[in-house]
Amino acid sequence: MNSLSLKQPWASWVADGQKTIETRKYKTNCRGELLICSSLKPVFPGLPCGQALAVVNLVDCRPMTKADEKMSMCEIYPDAWSWMLTNIRKIRPFEVKGHLGFYGVDYRINIGDVLQTIWACRKCGCTDKQACEGGCHWVESDLCSRCWAED
Ligand SMILES: [Zn+2]
Ligand SMILES: [Zn+2]
Repeated sequence: MNSLSLKQPWASWVADGQKTIETRKYKTNCRGELLICSSLKPVFPGLPCGQALAVVNLVDCRPMTKADEKMSMCEIYPDAWSWMLTNIRKIRPFEVKGHLGFYGVDYRINIGDVLQTIWACRKCGCTDKQACEGGCHWVESDLCSRCWAED
């Protein structure tokens, strides 16, 4: 499984389903399951560092918009790409050793390791806990009524 390292507290925010959009200065054509890991450094008191925390589905990658600031939990910056994450499965954390690249961590998700699952809209990143302004509901498992209406 491919992996993605994030600094804390962002890694834990993804695992908890509060942050459903990851932003990077580059785009990716990669899709599918990603293991979300927290980087070893910098150490963030009270949060796990150097651990795998969640398995997510990377479903889209597109230029970041101002509207993405809420679900990415960061301000828009030049050349930012939004990596849209959904089916966020928080797992029992385990240590990941060595330097983590993007490719190839030997891990298979076990249903018993999943602590919680959060679905996010593939277009806007909204969730059950953080709906779109004015409210929205699910039209598909990963598409909200707001985004569905815009199509
Ligand atoms: Zn949406
Ligand atoms: Zn929505």
